[in-house]
Amino acid sequence: MGVTAISVWNNCLAFIQDNIQPQAFKTWFEPIKPVKLADNALSIQVPSKFFYEWLEEHYVKLLKVALTKELGENAKLVYVIKMENTYGNREPFTEQIPSSNRGGVSSQEMDVPIKSKNPELKNPFVIPGIRNIKIESQLNPNYNFDNFLEGDSNRLARSAGMAVANKPGGTSFNPLLIFGGVGLGKTHLAHAIGVEIKDKYPERTVLYISAEKFTQQYIESVKKNTRNDFIHFYQLIDVLIIDDVQFLSGKSGTQDVFFHIFNHLHQNGKQVILTSDKAPVDMQDIEQRLLSRFKWGLSAELQNPDYETRISILRNKLYRDGVEMPDDIVEYVAKHIKTNIRELEGAIISLIAQSSFNKKEVTLELAQQVVEKFVKNTKREVSIDYIQKVVSDYFEMDVATLQSKTRKRHIVQARQLAMFFAKKFTKASLASIGSQIGKRDHATVLHACKTVDNLAETDKQFRKYIEDLTKKFS
Ligand code: ADP
Ligand code: MG
Repeated sequence: MGVTAISVWNNCLAFIQDNIQPQAFKTWFEPIKPVKLADNALSIQVPSKFFYEWLEEHYVKLLKVALTKELGENAKLVYVIKMENTYGNREPFTEQIPSSNRGGVSSQEMDVPIKSKNPELKNPFVIPGIRNIKIESQLNPNYNFDNFLEGDSNRLARSAGMAVANKPGGTSFNPLLIFGGVGLGKTHLAHAIGVEIKDKYPERTVLYISAEKFTQQYIESVKKNTRNDFIHFYQLIDVLIIDDVQFLSGKSGTQDVFFHIFNHLHQNGKQVILTSDKAPVDMQDIEQRLLSRFKWGLSAELQNPDYETRISILRNKLYRDGVEMPDDIVEYVAKHIKTNIRELEGAIISLIAQSSFNKKEVTLELAQQVVEKFVKNTKREVSIDYIQKVVSDYFEMDVATLQSKTRKRHIVQARQLAMFFAKKFTKASLASIGSQIGKRDHATVLHACKTVDNLAETDKQFRKYIEDLTKKFS
């Protein structure tokens, strides 16, 4: 018996196995089946086009050496892609992978038959290193580092992101997990890293995807029996960005497949960037083995922006839109919207719109109305202590004075106002308010509330106090 496809391939495998990592051998060479040997051309069957791409990109030299050893200088390799369906049906990937006639790939380069039942690929040694597949990054160029303003609240996450962008896969921040509450910039920062990497390393394959979409694609692939293709596709990525991984909670199938993809990428020095609304310790219904992977790299929090950062975000937005707005309006908005940058931007956009559509000067009053709409749902409960503090500050006295037994008129008024606001802004009972504001009884609090109501109607100065203080609590 002479040489067969199997014997040739087995010899190649033995050589290849000695020259690469066991994991890579298992992933990329074990699934290959030798199918034909004709003259000096060996045909091997690979599970997918991605698989072929991968071999082409990473192992073409190795394959060539192995095969030349076996079949001599004129050795040829032919790939056969095993598949049940035609390529046109491969839903999960159609978005990222332009077909041969899109994305600037000429048909000459794209020598992979698209719809034949048993597509054979031309000899890769004749067309060395072809790369037909262009994965679109799905990045939003408007989310970049330039317009991701730095502040105390995001400094760690931002600089870790920069470090990763400078050396994707080459820092200990792998994976980089960015976590924080709604509207604090997770998605923006994740894109910024991707955009920067694409800028610095155009040849790297970057992919941004939400965990939700990732899950949908995975489910589709299971339905269509293309789970392997799904995995291979993701294993091709150099920089994988998955947004809102908390979405994977409770989805064990997706977690499982992500686990394998993650391990593969990580082992091969590829960068993984994740975002989540929670720190790993607080994530629910995410498998332990996955959580422990998340902790391998760096978890960086995006915190609520401080006042200065909020001001600079607003100013920057106005500047980019070419809009001028009085300082006191900007300050008002920054002072009142504290925990969500999306709302902060929303409020200023709404103000810009109102002023330009209605040709109206932006007044503090308009700003108040707009801000109220944005913070209504997120209004926090103020405490009685906080109210006493604010009222005391406003009248330039200390809390002990406000609570004291004195009958001096301005102190009595301050105390009554504190009681009035406690009634208005907290759920505390009259008795409880009384006991916390200088140990008075509930009748005193009731009397205070009535007095404030009366004075509000009759005394202009007093009404001003109420208005000023109300602003501080809203
Ligand atoms: P998350 O994904 O955390 O919910 P996003 O990334 O969608 O938040 O951010 C919400 C909005 O706030 C976006 O418009 C984003 O551009 C903006 N934003 C967040 N952080 C910053 C920042 N540091 N500088 C400028 N804009 C920011
Ligand atoms: Mg987001």
